Amino acid sequence: MSQDFLPFAKPALSQAAIDEVVACLKSGWITTGPRVQRFEEMLQEYLQAPYVLALSTATAGLHLAMLALDLQPGDEVITTPYTFVATLNTIVQAGGKPVLVDIEPHTRNLDVAKIQAAITPRTRVIMPVHFAGLPVDLDPIYELAKQHNLRVIEDAAQAIGTHYKGKILGSFGDIQVFSFHPNKNMTTGEGGCIATRDPAIADFITRMRFHGIDRKDAWNRFSKNGSQYYDVMAPGFKYNMMDIQAALGIHQLPELDSFIERRTQLVQRYQATLKDWPEWELPTLPAYAHKHSWHLYNPLLTDKAPLSRDEFIAAMKEANIGIGYHYQAAHLFHFYQQEFGYKTGDFPIAEKVAQQIVSLPLFPSMTDSEQERVITTMAKVLNRSI
Ligand SMILES: *Cc1c(COP(=O)(O)O)cnc(C)c1O
Repeated sequence: MSQDFLPFAKPALSQAAIDEVVACLKSGWITTGPRVQRFEEMLQEYLQAPYVLALSTATAGLHLAMLALDLQPGDEVITTPYTFVATLNTIVQAGGKPVLVDIEPHTRNLDVAKIQAAITPRTRVIMPVHFAGLPVDLDPIYELAKQHNLRVIEDAAQAIGTHYKGKILGSFGDIQVFSFHPNKNMTTGEGGCIATRDPAIADFITRMRFHGIDRKDAWNRFSKNGSQYYDVMAPGFKYNMMDIQAALGIHQLPELDSFIERRTQLVQRYQATLKDWPEWELPTLPAYAHKHSWHLYNPLLTDKAPLSRDEFIAAMKEANIGIGYHYQAAHLFHFYQQEFGYKTGDFPIAEKVAQQIVSLPLFPSMTDSEQERVITTMAKVLNRSI
């Protein structure tokens, strides 16, 4: 019997969110405006951050964050090879050089113990990525940053709603960048935001996300109360979020904690079921206090499995179940090998994880019986009993 295709991720959009988009379309104001402003205020409260700037994407946010720190050509940014390539691309776009440090095998996060050795006189920024929604060990990173006079940009694209030692990401530290891409834990279609506590950074990003125009309400210049005159302080970008996007966000954010709760339940069932299967090596959690937002659940397929990782993904697809793949090791992409001389063997842990990892279906509207289907299909594909 053929069953519907079960994707590995799916956004959960309420009727209220859909109605809000329609209301926005009918209102006559569809780009940056009152709904973006309201969404930013809601994010400020949720993230406990004095400044939150909504943007077109998280990629835009990473780019602006580095420009806000006045990165100069050749400045080095320490980050992980085990991330979505936007992390590295934006470093290069901002004129910087990505200096990579291998990951810790169990959490797949940057190995904090290896950062010190990568610091040089040209290092300006440390950019940890909270992989899959698991917070990186931030205390030692901020401590290193203080000792060496560096700044920290947290690529928190996968980690809205994540807590580290009792504090929500976004409420402390230098700069955090969150994504609202449809695969992420909450969505605005495309979209992202920056959180910071630094008014100078917030001012810079406010201008540079909209052409470098000097006024916060520049988007409002054609309305009754707006002035048509403005000045340009620097050649800025077009990185603003639209009200159509914020209309979704206004309704997604209040549901985020319940989305994370459902994701956590599903992960607990995967963990409890798969822990006795020698075919899998499961993700393990660090000892420090944290709340994982479980953006992804990705175990490693071991050599005890009767088929390769790619064969496993293909067999699951054949059975109408989508399996994600996050990620290829970024240092092995053509550009990064060519431009920076990275090669196979440079970051063995990231490379090994990249060869074995899969992302199992995980999304808030996933039912228990859909998860049952994933588990029974995996057992069949792996030629074992549950
Ligand atoms: C999704 C993601 C990004 C990019 O987010 P967009 O909103 O799609 O630009 C950047 N870094 C990481 C780690 C991501 O997962």
